[in-house]
Amino acid sequence: QAHLDRIAAVDGDVHAFLHVSDHALDIAADIDRRRAAGEALGALAGVPLAIKDVLVTTDMPSTSGSKILEGYMSPYDATVVARSRAAGLVPLGKTNMDEFAMGSSTEFSAYGPTRNPWDLDRIPGGSGGGSAAAVAAFEAPLALGSDTGGSIRQPAHVTGTVGIKPTYGGVSRYGAIALASSLDQVGPVTRNVLDAGLLHDVIGGYDAHDATSISEKWPSFADAAREGARGDVLKGLKVGVIKEFADAGFQTGVSASFRAALTTMQAQGAEIVEISAPHFEYAVAAYYLILPAEASSNLAKFDSVRFGMRVDVPGGTVEDVMAATRDAGFGPEVKRRIILGTYALSAGYYDAYYGSAQKVRTLIQQDFDAAFASVDVIATPSAPTTAFRIGEKIDDPLQMYLNDLTTIPANLAGIPGISIPSGLAEEDGLPVGIQFLAPARQDARLYRVGAALE
Ligand code: GLN
Repeated sequence: QAHLDRIAAVDGDVHAFLHVSDHALDIAADIDRRRAAGEALGALAGVPLAIKDVLVTTDMPSTSGSKILEGYMSPYDATVVARSRAAGLVPLGKTNMDEFAMGSSTEFSAYGPTRNPWDLDRIPGGSGGGSAAAVAAFEAPLALGSDTGGSIRQPAHVTGTVGIKPTYGGVSRYGAIALASSLDQVGPVTRNVLDAGLLHDVIGGYDAHDATSISEKWPSFADAAREGARGDVLKGLKVGVIKEFADAGFQTGVSASFRAALTTMQAQGAEIVEISAPHFEYAVAAYYLILPAEASSNLAKFDSVRFGMRVDVPGGTVEDVMAATRDAGFGPEVKRRIILGTYALSAGYYDAYYGSAQKVRTLIQQDFDAAFASVDVIATPSAPTTAFRIGEKIDDPLQMYLNDLTTIPANLAGIPGISIPSGLAEEDGLPVGIQFLAPARQDARLYRVGAALE
């Protein structure tokens, strides 16, 4: 009830939610009854959960921020939603996002922007700005997000929250409306590292419904966070700092906060090691070929027949109806990427664009392999700037894409990443995050390091 009250009080300004559940209290009451009856429930039973609208739910609409899916009701729950329900979490509502998770500011939602609770004139990051804003504004204690190129970590950075992109395959993508299937991962957005670990323990692990799910025996991430908070995990830890990012043009306060965090880590016994990642400068370019290519294929299913809206064209052919529906249903950024992706995949251009981008992807993976031979984690600022103003970059796709400079390499390599708050930038008083990256399957290391530093 407290969270519903909070939503009623602030969401008119923040607009983190696209839909608020009308039966969350009934679910909570049921959990109370089960608890009273002596049922052993998990640590998060009864805790409200905000769910990014890219994740399908049977009891609330799932739009992925798009007009084309307005009012769409899924016949099944995403695995992460089903597991959350089974653990007694209470789905509170669906959060706003850039349409089909394309964007870094949540301005590309078909349902209007979300505002950053720290400053309502600024963006909450994207694409998962709704989940991050809901957590930052105390509308929800926990949220789910998806991260294809940074959509969990960059919103966490600009809202002073914690966001984790798990190892690719560590959390099921079943029921996550696909953006780019080789890059997408679902993960937690929370106010501290332990909360993220608790939620990750609930949603993670093998799922036969996801062909890329890893059958790994994962350790408890909550335990890893507790260990980090307790102990001396920073002692002797080798932290890699990427040489090529030194002159990447980060905002002054972002760089200052990053250096201060490194100094704190050093004081606790961490060793800072300069590493080189020579191919990272091509990561954004490679990503913005691979992502549109996969997205253009994934979004082909919105054909006016199988899902969502249909625009009638009297006397028109099936193709006319499809074209009219996609024209009316998709927003400008989605159309831009479908055109880019279709072009990059077309005969005659495939090798030059998609093929080259895949080769760059391998080189970036090799940069990580080389770096992790000598360091335990890599640290970077989570994004180049603090929250920018709503409208500032909306007409400049390249500026919007360059936001993802530090987050994209992890998705290209499939490795885990965490963003935790590292203070406020002196010049604008806005939150800044520090990102840690670890080798694939070493998510627990990020929880230990994150909890030690927060
Ligand atoms: N900003 C990135 C993009 O627009 C991130 C997307 C994501 O992680 N869903 O593609």
